[in-house]
Amino acid sequence: MVTASALDRVAVLERKFGDPFDSANPLGFQEILAVDERGERFAPGERALDEFGMNAELVPYELGGRFTRLDDLIAVGRAVSRRDPGLNAGYLTPSLLASVCVWLAGDDDQRRYVAETLLAGHRLACAYHELEHGNEFTAAEFTARPAGDRLILDGRKEVIADVDRAEALVLFAATGGTQPAQAHSQLLLRGPDLTGARVRSLPRFGTVGLRGVHLGGIAFHAAPVDEDRVLGRLGRGTENTMKAFQLTRIALPAMMTTVVDTALRCTVRHLLGRTLYGKAAIDLPHLKSKLVDVFVTLVAADAFSTSAARSLHVYPGEGALHAATVKYQLPTLLLDAMNQLAMILGAHSYLRAGPTAIFQKLMRDIRAIGVVHISRAACRMTLLPQFPLLARRSWGTEDAADENLFAVGADLPPLEFAKLRVTGNGRDHLFGGLSTGLAALTGDTTPDGRLIRTPAESLATEGRELRAAATALSTSDFGVDAPPSAARIVDRYARLSLAGVCLETWRHNRERSGDWLSAWAVAALTKLAGGRSPGQLPGKVEDRLFTELLDRCAGNIDLGLSGHPVFEA
Ligand SMILES: Cc1cc2nc3c(=O)[nH]c(=O)nc-3n(C[C@H](O)[C@H](O)[C@H](O)COP(=O)(O)OP(=O)(O)OC[C@H]3O[C@@H](n4cnc5c(N)ncnc54)[C@H](O)[C@@H]3O)c2cc1C
Repeated sequence: MVTASALDRVAVLERKFGDPFDSANPLGFQEILAVDERGERFAPGERALDEFGMNAELVPYELGGRFTRLDDLIAVGRAVSRRDPGLNAGYLTPSLLASVCVWLAGDDDQRRYVAETLLAGHRLACAYHELEHGNEFTAAEFTARPAGDRLILDGRKEVIADVDRAEALVLFAATGGTQPAQAHSQLLLRGPDLTGARVRSLPRFGTVGLRGVHLGGIAFHAAPVDEDRVLGRLGRGTENTMKAFQLTRIALPAMMTTVVDTALRCTVRHLLGRTLYGKAAIDLPHLKSKLVDVFVTLVAADAFSTSAARSLHVYPGEGALHAATVKYQLPTLLLDAMNQLAMILGAHSYLRAGPTAIFQKLMRDIRAIGVVHISRAACRMTLLPQFPLLARRSWGTEDAADENLFAVGADLPPLEFAKLRVTGNGRDHLFGGLSTGLAALTGDTTPDGRLIRTPAESLATEGRELRAAATALSTSDFGVDAPPSAARIVDRYARLSLAGVCLETWRHNRERSGDWLSAWAVAALTKLAGGRSPGQLPGKVEDRLFTELLDRCAGNIDLGLSGHPVFEA
C-alpha cells in the first residue's frame, strides 16, 4: 500500500539487517537476544539505523527529511520491529512521539531546530507521564509558571523512554489558566535546558519486555527557561496533544504487526522441522487451522492500521475516531495472535535458548502495545461519546470512500496537520466500507463474490443493530463510570470497522493481488461474522491460505498485505 520509494527504503533496511535467523548475522536474533538478556540497548542495530539515516524518516520532506506519508513511515518502522521491537521502541518511538508534536504546533524556528537536531543524528524524548497519573495526562502536576519572559519549571516526569540521552525534550506541563482544557502546554526544551544544578536525572525503570529501552526520568526544581519554549500558544497543550498523537496512536501499533509476522514465521519453521506421531507436525489439521487463523488476523491487522494511516491523509477530520479505534483494536488482534502461536509452539514458546528463543522475547515485548501511549480503556472513553453522532450522520449511509484509502500503491494527498481535529467530525469511512462494499457486491456472480456476500450481509445486519444501540446511548454511558455494556458496543464497533476495511481492501485489490487475497477476505469476514474457525471455512479457502503462508515463509516474503521480500542478502 506504500510508495515505491518507501519500499526501496525498506529493501535497503532488509539488506542491511539481513536474515535474523542466521546465527552468524551480528544483527540477527542471536545477538538481539543476548543484548536483551543484559537489558542493554542494541548498539549494532542502532549504528545500522544511524547509517541508514532513520531519523530522516521522521522529518517532513520540506524540512529536509523523507517524511511524506504515514503509511510509508509505518512500512519502514515495520522492517525494524520484525527483528527487534525494542530497537523500534528505543530508537524510533521517542523521537517520533516528540517530533509529531513539533510538526503540528511548533513555529518555524522550533520546527527547523528539531529537523536539524534529528538530521544530525540526535535523539528526542517525549515526557508526558507522571507516576501518579498514568493515562490521565491532563492531571499533570508538573508546572511551568510564567514569570516575566521566563517559565519556571517544577516537577518530575518518569518512565520516559530515552530521556537519559535526549538532545531535546517535548514536555507536558501545567501552565495555569482558568479553563481546564487550557490549563496545560507542551514545551520544547533544548539541550542546555536539560542540564545544570536545577535539573536531575531520575533512576531507570526495569521492564518485563522491551528490556533494551531505557525508561528514565527527569526532575526540575525552580528551573528557569525562556518563554519561547512553549509549542504553539500557551494553554493549547491538551488540544495539540490530542491532534498530534493521532499519528502515533495509529503508527506505533501498526509498526508492531511485523512482530507477529516474525512469531508466525518462527512457529512455521519450528513445525516444519518437527515430527510428531510419525508425520510432520505442520500437517496436523488442528495446527494448520490455527496457523491460517493467525495469518488471516495478521493481514487484517495490517490492512486496518494501514488504511487508518492513509485515512489521516484523505479524511483528516476522522483521525480522532480512527486513531482511538486502531489503538483499541490492534492490541487485541496482535496479542490474541501471539497467544495462539504460543499454544502452537507449546513449551518452545517458553524457552530462552534454542531456535525458537526469539519468540519469548517477542511475546514479552509486544505486551507493551496494550498499555503504552494510552490504554484500551481510555480509547474506549474517547470512542463512546462519538457514537451517537456517527450513528445518525454516517453509519447508515453508503457514502463510498475515496478508492485511494484501500488500493495498493494509490497516491495520497499530503498529510495536513492543520486539518486534524480534537474529536471526530461524525463521518467514518472505515466502518462505511461495510455498506459500500456490500452494495458493490450486488450483481457480482463470481464464486469469490458469492462466498464473501454471505458473511458481509450478516455483518451489515449487525451494523444496523449497532446503529440502533448507539443511538440509544445516554450521557451516563460515557465517561469513566460507563457500564460494561457500553464496552461491548465499542468491541462490536471495532470488529465491524475491521470488517469494513477487510471488505474494501479485497474489493479494491482483488484484480492485482491474486486468489490468495480472496481466500483471505472470505476467511477474515467469515471469522468476524460468526466466529467460525478456519477449519470450517468454505471450500479450499484454508488450503489456499496455508499454501500461501508456507510459500511466503520459504521465499522470505512479508506475511502482511504487501508481500514484499524480506531478509534480502
Ligand atoms: C515501555 C514503556 C515506554 C514508555 N514510554 C513513555 C514515554 O516515552 N513518555 C511518556 O510520557 N510515557 C511513557 N510511558 C508511560 C506510559 O505511557 C504509561 O505507562 C501510560 O500512560 C499508562 O500508565 P498506567 O498504565 O500506569 O495508567 P493508569 O491510567 O493508572 O491505568 C491503570 C488502569 O486503569 C485503566 N484506565 C485508565 N484510564 C481509564 C479510563 N478512562 N476508563 C477506564 N479505565 C481506565 C487502565 O486501562 C489500567 O487498567 C512508557 C511506558 C512503558 C511501559
